[in-house]
Amino acid sequence: MGSGHSKLRIAVSNCSMNRDMRTSFTRPGALSGGSGGLICPTGGVLQRPSGRSAFRRRSSLARSPGAVPKAWLALLCCALASFRCDARLNVVATTPDLGSIASAVGGNKIDVTVLVRPTEDPHFVDPKPSFVVKLNRADVLIEGGAELELGWLPSLLQSARNSKIAKGAPGRVVANEGIKMLEVPVSLDRSKGDIHAAGNPHYLVDPENALIVARHIARALAAVDPESSAAYESNLAEFTASLQTALQEWKRKLEPFRGRSLVGFHNSWPYFANRFEFKIDIYLEPKPGVPPTPAHLAEVITTMKERRAAVILVDTYQDRRTAEAVASRTGATVLDVSHFPGGMKGTEAGYIAFMNRLVDSLATALAAKAD
Ligand SMILES: [Zn+2]
Repeated sequence: MGSGHSKLRIAVSNCSMNRDMRTSFTRPGALSGGSGGLICPTGGVLQRPSGRSAFRRRSSLARSPGAVPKAWLALLCCALASFRCDARLNVVATTPDLGSIASAVGGNKIDVTVLVRPTEDPHFVDPKPSFVVKLNRADVLIEGGAELELGWLPSLLQSARNSKIAKGAPGRVVANEGIKMLEVPVSLDRSKGDIHAAGNPHYLVDPENALIVARHIARALAAVDPESSAAYESNLAEFTASLQTALQEWKRKLEPFRGRSLVGFHNSWPYFANRFEFKIDIYLEPKPGVPPTPAHLAEVITTMKERRAAVILVDTYQDRRTAEAVASRTGATVLDVSHFPGGMKGTEAGYIAFMNRLVDSLATALAAKAD
């Protein structure tokens, strides 16, 4: 930038310029007008930015030695107002299910970053340095809660030093608040590897819980960004209506198999079982987070035969070969599933697409075993 020119970053509020379209202007003193904003003829306000909202590419205005002519300013302003400008909230979600619900509720008012990949075990995530950067820049953090991220999130948050997403801040969403948690232990022995110490954290495979989380997220986004609260409300209403319709369809599809016994690799299905009236209380893991042992698997095989359990649910990151070994002794089907949008092929579009696939593939597998 030229000497003697103060650098001013300009943000345009009430519009939505894409992040990639941001541009930055170096300007002579006249445009700054102190700390206040400049009223644009279109109704937008040019003002000093707070944080990330800024235009990064320098314009030819930078070379103008004097005040910017008003006509230029008006032109610039109108041009900017016609873009989608960057007033978007920077939202970080720990897991893809939370991220997809946030996207549905936030729409084009937010940018969503998800930390855990859809094919990754959310209990045991590699805390990458890039996560610290993402958390440092977040306006809002959505975590699953119930200690799901206990093993990796707290240290990242400490390094990120972002008060906007500190515990208790409006930008910190603990998604399981308001959810009726299942399997909250009366006593706990962590030495045995039990990782569901605050109740079972896999509550989002119950669509009713997804509705609660969506409401929770909408409230939080509106608190952080009150100007967009009408948009969040309307997106929430749309998501709720679509999900409620879909839920009726999912119940209808799974109804013929009500009461059937299914097997999980990990104890991550009690909410799904509860909603769709299955019995899913046989697990290949002897305890949540503890790898299968031969003695435990022998018990599993006996129980599966007794209960005629015909399907073993295996997430992408779980040991499919162990499941296949059990299946070969019981005649069961190993069904590749996921808890996350994007974890199964064709489910990247979001929560509803994901649940659709989960329900369809389970119904198909059970129908094949129906006789
Ligand atoms: Zn778990």
